[in-house]
Amino acid sequence: MKIGIYPGSFDPITRGHLDIIVRASGLVDKLIIGVLQNSAKKPLFTAEERVELIERVVKENTNLTSVQVIAFEGLLIEFARQQQASIIVRGLRAITDFEYELQIAQMNHKLDSKVDTVFFTTSVEYSYLSSSAVKEIASYGGDISQFVPDCLIKSVYDKYNSIRSV
Ligand code: ADP
Repeated sequence: MKIGIYPGSFDPITRGHLDIIVRASGLVDKLIIGVLQNSAKKPLFTAEERVELIERVVKENTNLTSVQVIAFEGLLIEFARQQQASIIVRGLRAITDFEYELQIAQMNHKLDSKVDTVFFTTSVEYSYLSSSAVKEIASYGGDISQFVPDCLIKSVYDKYNSIRSV
């Protein structure tokens, strides 16, 4: 069984991420979405919340039956080994992503030669899209409906409202 891991922060998951998930899930028997729990970063949503949001999106897409969502901490290559994954999936939006991604992919291959990184070039309609841009727009109450799956739009606004009311 070919297992792939699509790692990322997904803070929150965007339509760009979903596009990669749909395309990558056709390449492997099981796709694990690895939600990075990085104590050095200050995410908007906790890892548990991000997992829940992604699971909601996966459930809505009935063709994504072989997709699993798991939070992880520490080295990606260790997580890949634990999950018996042989493929790491990453998305490339622009040349600026490339240099960093190439280095990480080569490093991971050096750490475990049985694991290869596969890059998906972004669909053009999502090439400008990032979780940071979504957060920036939502924090000012702007319209994020084109950028995140419908089922989580409210959760993003609710998060900012709850932060404001603290
Ligand atoms: P990270 O913090 O690891 O970059 P992200 O959640 O920002 O995590 O992104 C996870 C992966 O998804 C990365 O490979 C990133 O390049 C890719 N990605 C992010 N946004 C898009 C997009 N709009 N189109 C295609 N791939 C994307």
